[in-house]
Amino acid sequence: MAYMAAPTPARTPLPDPATLRDLAVRAAVEQGLLDREPVTCLLDVAGIRARAASLTAAFDAAAAPGTPVLHTFAVKAAPLVPVLRLLADAGVGCEVASPGELALARAAGVPAERTVLDSPAKTEAELREALALGIAVNADNAQELERLDALMAAGPPTRSPIGLRINPQTGAGTIDALSTATATSKFGFALRDPGARERLVRAFLDRPWLTRLHTHSGSQGVPLALIAQGVREVHALAEEVNAAAGRRRIDTLDIGGGLPVDFASDEHAPTYAAYVTALRAAVPALFDGSYGLVTEFGRSLLAKQGLILARVEYTKETGGRPIAVTHAGVQLATRTVYAPASWPLRILAYDAKGEPRTGPPVAQDVAGPACFAGDLLATARELPRLRPGDVIAVPDTGAYFFTAHYGYNSLPRPSVHGFTATPRGGIRFAPARPAQTLADLVTEAGGAFRDALL
Ligand SMILES: *Cc1c(COP(=O)(O)O)cnc(C)c1O
Repeated sequence: MAYMAAPTPARTPLPDPATLRDLAVRAAVEQGLLDREPVTCLLDVAGIRARAASLTAAFDAAAAPGTPVLHTFAVKAAPLVPVLRLLADAGVGCEVASPGELALARAAGVPAERTVLDSPAKTEAELREALALGIAVNADNAQELERLDALMAAGPPTRSPIGLRINPQTGAGTIDALSTATATSKFGFALRDPGARERLVRAFLDRPWLTRLHTHSGSQGVPLALIAQGVREVHALAEEVNAAAGRRRIDTLDIGGGLPVDFASDEHAPTYAAYVTALRAAVPALFDGSYGLVTEFGRSLLAKQGLILARVEYTKETGGRPIAVTHAGVQLATRTVYAPASWPLRILAYDAKGEPRTGPPVAQDVAGPACFAGDLLATARELPRLRPGDVIAVPDTGAYFFTAHYGYNSLPRPSVHGFTATPRGGIRFAPARPAQTLADLVTEAGGAFRDALL
């Protein structure tokens, strides 16, 4: 089902991001998306395709002809089946890290050979299933590798490429909770611990079926040069393994994702091209065709394509500070609410009709609907003074925000709609996820077991 395009005046077919966003907000209001729920979420469909194309182009431009390159999307960034399907159609597979994410990738029709399994806590059953399906597996630790030894010895032959996840221990970025490559990170085989290199080389020499190295050394807050340094360490280890084996035992490097996103503007910065340039500078041989490449980007593919729209329910003034009480809060922007310094979000003001609100800027708190004092998307934010019935838009929320719902106060998951500009300047919406109904909420809260504890 797709809603009808709004009869808006003809405009240029490819508006800039801010203009397109204004069109989408107005169309969402005109088409009643905020009448059914006080908050809804939008995804820019053409924008997602454009991100996938820019990723593909950046690597194609650098890689020697014939180099196998598989781009996968880190499903945790936007676990929505239609998004995975769209990305698959744009040539991007899936990186999964739980049985749920694997189920979503399969529901989206992503083939096994374009799926990579990376979770740090894979059960034996999950490993067995992955090997049976033929999806790529990156082992996180020595005990997981022992499990794989047993499964490989006992089981039928598998088509799964198998690798080891390496923590290059190259250091932290500005956000500790997201820094994967610290000396004590929980992820992967540490590379710099005493004796680690020798053990890793030996692990490959002992296991002919181990053919890959994996690292995911970047994230929001990690500078490009530091991410690239992690990849360099892993490339050097691959060279060492292959030299020790006397042949190309490792044929593929999975370099993870981790490209940061600019939450302060509509810029795509850094670009995929800039990341490729940083990689070429740090690891000149990476693209020479000796290794196939796998990537696992999440945030940089989806963040800037997502937009939360929420009604302002009330406005008030307390202790001299204006506060706008809206329907977007901790349930959709969990990280921003709990760690506002690390995850600042822009807030854009629109009036009740979805037109950009104008007026002199006034420092306001923008609060969410949850019952705790810290449920604020922004404090003392300079915005035209908001009024009840207005709409706020929260851009850059396509990854890890509304797709990572937090069920506080039994606030329902809102609907998600993809939007596309029509050639005549209208906006067409297509539902990508229904709103969670109150009946869903009751069921998920054990409604069928009402008397269980009597
Ligand atoms: C989260 C994750 C990614 C994606 O990270 P982004 O910062 O969203 O690009 C890729 N690989 C692994 C193993 C991850 O855990």
